[in-house]
Amino acid sequence: MSRGMVSIIGAGPGDPELITVKALKRIQSADVIMYDRLVTDELLAEARDSALRIYCGKAPGLHSMSQEMIGRMLASHAAEGKQVVRLKGGDPFIFGRGGEEALVLAESGIPYEIIPGITSAVGTSASSLIPLTHRGVASSFACVTGTGSDGSVSSVRWDLLAHSVDTLVIYMGISQLSQIQQELLRHGKAGHTPAALIERGTTSEERIVTGTLAELQTLANMHHICNPALIMVGESVLIREQLLQMQHAASASMTG
Ligand code: SAH
Repeated sequence: MSRGMVSIIGAGPGDPELITVKALKRIQSADVIMYDRLVTDELLAEARDSALRIYCGKAPGLHSMSQEMIGRMLASHAAEGKQVVRLKGGDPFIFGRGGEEALVLAESGIPYEIIPGITSAVGTSASSLIPLTHRGVASSFACVTGTGSDGSVSSVRWDLLAHSVDTLVIYMGISQLSQIQQELLRHGKAGHTPAALIERGTTSEERIVTGTLAELQTLANMHHICNPALIMVGESVLIREQLLQMQHAASASMTG
């Protein structure tokens, strides 16, 4: 019997076409697929009919399967000689707990590989026309979590982030939005800094709202922005506005 293994795979940010060729091949040949909440049905449909599909997603605050249980199941299926795919939204090593699962497998001596995915910051940067870097506007970006492991506002260094990073992308930040906004303002980030909220980026249900850092909470309430969503703060949000204006002008001159 061939030896089983686990492929920990990033499914990409939402659009099912934004998956790597390598990840897709693993899905198509898997015996077992353990998948998360943000993974689309289109990708699961790529698996063989005989593949065992196991949902282990986590909605915020609701855990369908404990992290320990996931680790044990991955290891036990692989130990039976199965090709196991662990499918996660975005990239497995960016707020995806892929590292924890790899540690469990390594401890049990189970062969594994990590296949990267397009993380939602990169996917939504493209779909929202907000470059993470832009010559003369943004020379750095940071991806941070807005929620700490205890569920309250993240203990990242908002004081340093307010000044040392040009484009700030905040994952898991919607439920902590007002605290995040206050932290950044309190540490001297200007209230007029351009900012955006991107919900279900790269999917057909994508919604993008833009404004300023000072307006973020109001914008989120007004538009009922829900998870999964990212917060982006930085001058390069204005590049989107410029691009949209130019598209507008071009289409107006064509129809006029
Ligand atoms: N590993 C994933 C992140 C998982 S954490 C990745 O690399 O993207 C879950 C958070 O990711 C959500 O709370 C949200 O902030 C963000 N997210 C994931 N998919 C998203 C999408 N399509 N649009 C906007 N944000 C998304």
